[in-house]
Parts: sequence; C-alpha cells; structure tokens
Amino acid sequence: MLPKINIPKYSTTLPISGKVIEYRPYIVKEQNILKYAAQSGEESDIEDAIKQIIGNCSGVDVSDIHPTDFEWIFLKIHACSESNIVEVIYPVEDCAELQCPSYVSGYFDINEVTVIKQDKANPFKSRGNGFIIPVDDNIGMHLKKIVVFDENDYQTLYNALISIYDGDKIFPKSSIDYNEFIDFIDNLPKPVSEQLKQFMEYVGPTIQCNVNGKCDVCGKVFYQQVEGLKDFFV
Ligand SMILES: [Zn+2]
Repeated sequence: MLPKINIPKYSTTLPISGKVIEYRPYIVKEQNILKYAAQSGEESDIEDAIKQIIGNCSGVDVSDIHPTDFEWIFLKIHACSESNIVEVIYPVEDCAELQCPSYVSGYFDINEVTVIKQDKANPFKSRGNGFIIPVDDNIGMHLKKIVVFDENDYQTLYNALISIYDGDKIFPKSSIDYNEFIDFIDNLPKPVSEQLKQFMEYVGPTIQCNVNGKCDVCGKVFYQQVEGLKDFFV
C-alpha cells in the first residue's frame, strides 16, 4: 500500500463570529472542482464549488455562516493551497493611450486583506452576532446574516433565525418548530416582511483589499481598493 500523505492543518479566527476554525489546503481533486466550475462560467456552479471546498477543507457548515466569514475562510484556504498572491485581471477605463487595453493584469495579497466592520449605513439594531427585526412593540426576531440562500425563502429565513422574543421571553430557534415558524412569517404585517427582505439583501461588513495592476502598453500603474473578493475568483 502506498503511504498516506499528511496534509498540514492551519487555524484562523473568523472575523465576524470570532470562532476559531481549522482548515487544510485543497488537494488536486478539489482544485479540479474549482477549475471545472470556473470553466463553466456559471455563477451558481462557482458558488457551489466554493461551498464544497469550504465544507471539505474546514468542516464549517456554510448554511449559517456570515458572508464575510465565508469569504475569509475561502481566502485562507486559497492562500495555503496556492499562494497568498492572487493574480487578477480587471477592467480599467482611464488608461492614457488609445491602443491601451480595457483590461489590465494585477494582483492582491491575501495576507493584507482587511475586514471593514464599522458600517454606518446599517439600518438594523445589532445584538450579539445578529440583528433585531421588530415586529411590534413587544415582539421581534433576532436574525443573523448568512451567505447561503435556499430556494425556499422560509428555509432561508429559518437558517438565519437565532430566536424570536416576546418582551422578556425568548424563544430560541431550537424550541421553534419549522411549521410554526412558517405560520409566524405568514402572519407578519407587510412592512415587517419588507424589513426582512431588506435585511436579507443588506450587505454588512465586507472584506477589503488593495489591488495593484499595470497596463502592459503604456505602463500606467493602477492601485485600487476593492471590496468583496468572490468576484475575483470567477
Ligand atoms: Zn495603458
């Protein structure tokens, strides 16, 4: 029998949840999942591939994870599997010469990625790792941001649910039956369901990095800040 190959393990603290997780580099067969997804060019294929890689390499359940933590894990796995330098090609509009291309090649360094946590635009009151969506003066929902949206909106909301409260009484998710939850959602006043929609679509803290690029024709150097990195792997 051939020897078993030891794969190194690393750990990182997730920027939003504060949880410490372990992860490992992806191996050849997993790299192929990413490669085929990228070749297909379908956004949903790429998302599925990234979810699978994160699941395989870290064991983290992606269904109830914050979008920023999701990107963070993937970047960390990517860095230890390939390199912390990620080469990207991105569009530019203001290059000097007429014959300049509309795209330049550049790179960013995963080790220099930062998380922007303060967010003045956030219209929702935060509590712990989640946010409060009031239903009326007494009743409200405690929800967390998630990245994976189910085809079923009720299921997506249920995945995001931390608890429902009524005054001082708190009903943790573990005590809430799924069908009862559907009934609760169906009985919400329209403005509250609009708020829920807003909450689900709201992009909170984000990952930010500096991308350095250079035009091959005129040599102009580009330096820009980019937020949200998933697009770069597409
Ligand atoms: Zn140029």
